This record gives sequence, C-alpha cells and structure tokens, in this order.
Amino acid sequence: MSKLIIAYFYPSYLNLYGDTGNVEILRERARRRGIDVEVVYIDPTVSLSSEAVKYFSIVFMGGGPDSGQKLMYEDLYKNKGPYLREYVEKGGISLFICGSYQLMGHYYKSADGTILNGLGIFDLYTEHFGNHKPRCIGNVTCEISEELRHDPVFNSVNKVGRTLVGFENHGGRTYLGNSLLPLGKIITGYGNNAEDASEGVLYKNSIGSYLHGPLLAKNPHLADYLIAKGLGMDSLPELDDTLIISAHTAAGNLKQ
Ligand code: GLN
Repeated sequence: MSKLIIAYFYPSYLNLYGDTGNVEILRERARRRGIDVEVVYIDPTVSLSSEAVKYFSIVFMGGGPDSGQKLMYEDLYKNKGPYLREYVEKGGISLFICGSYQLMGHYYKSADGTILNGLGIFDLYTEHFGNHKPRCIGNVTCEISEELRHDPVFNSVNKVGRTLVGFENHGGRTYLGNSLLPLGKIITGYGNNAEDASEGVLYKNSIGSYLHGPLLAKNPHLADYLIAKGLGMDSLPELDDTLIISAHTAAGNLKQ
C-alpha cells in the first residue's frame, strides 16, 4: 500500500478541544494496518506549490478561537488559499473543523464584527452574533447524510451505523448555500446554526464539521473513510473497534 501523507495545517493556531487528535487517530489507524504514514506540518513559514499539494493524501485543519483565526488568516488567504482551493476542487480529501471550516466559506464575521473573507471553496457564510445569541456548546449527535452513508467506500468501512457524535463550542453560525449538502442532520445539539438542523458540510471529497472531541476519536467510520479515500482504496482491513463503538454509543446517549 502507498504511503498516507497527511498535511496538517496551522497546528499551532487551530487546535481547540483536542483537534490535533484527529491527525493522531488517522496516523494510528493507518499504522495498525501496516500503512506507512507521514504528517507534514504546514504553518506560515511553509511555502506550497501546485506540485507539492499533489502529494497530499489528506488535508486536515482544526478549530480555533477568533484570535487564533485572525493570526493565521492572512497566510491562509494570501499564500495557502489558492493551493487549497485547487486541491479541493480537484477532489482532494480534506477535513476542516469549526474555525477552519468557517474560513473555507465566503466570509466569517467574528464576535467583534471583523469580517474575515473566506476562501470561498464552500458556498456558505458564517456570522457570530456576539452576545445577542448564546454560543452553541454541548454534546452533538447527528445522522450522517444519506449521500455519504451510501458512498460505496464509506459503506464498506462503516461498522458503526448512521450517526456521528462529538462536542461543539462555537459562536459563529453557518448557513449553507442551496447547492451544498450537510454532513449530517442534528439529533442532539445545535450544529451549523441551531436553526435548520444541519451539521457541517459535504463538498466533493471535502468535509467541514463543528464536531470537536476530536471528531475521529469516537467516529472510526469517518476516520477509515478518510484513510481509504486518501489512499484511493475501496475498503480497509478491519480493526477491533469494540471499545470505540461502545464509546460512540454512550456518547450518542448523552444529553445536550
Ligand atoms: N471562533 C469561532 C467561533 O466561535 C470558531 C470556534 C472553534 O473553532 N471552536 O465560532
């Protein structure tokens, strides 16, 4: 099997609530299958090129406070953005959590009213309504969108079921364009905006989500889907996920 190359963007700026754990889970689940893994850390000092991003199997970017988003924003928008857009539009596999998910849209209006123009990769926008609206905080359970559940690769690695579980903490509320599919439908929690029961987004082979935890810790089906897609494989050898699945089930029973 080919090497899994995970490009981890802004680890020092966007790593709220254990989001860095998503990279460790991908690394470990690949290692247990004898897959060689390399994690490439992408921060403002790293220059990208169209040639370089072709070698990425998976792109990952975590969440962060408004301040963290502002610190990395200029580099993302001016330097990394064009290459990320090219990578996603060409079907690259990627996972963006919360703060980075927001910046993949048209804009993020932060709590103090600052507007950060996004990369416009996802047809969505996010607004933080300040203290006028409470933060979206708590445990989340959502039903995975049919489009993803019925994806043949997802279906082949899915030993968990129809749900994703996690934890959210965001002030920004995200509104999807009509052309976009949500990652899931909220069962418990707020999700994108606490209004339309959507959580996250699916676009080509990219996923945006508000779920921290880290997300992949209790959602091995999503982790394996990203690994298989990143390697261009239809399925993966099974791992013993008994304990993780029991944690997923327990998390799914938590109140908001
Ligand atoms: N700062 C953004 C918000 O509050 C994102 C927060 C996060 O990444 N958890 O909505």
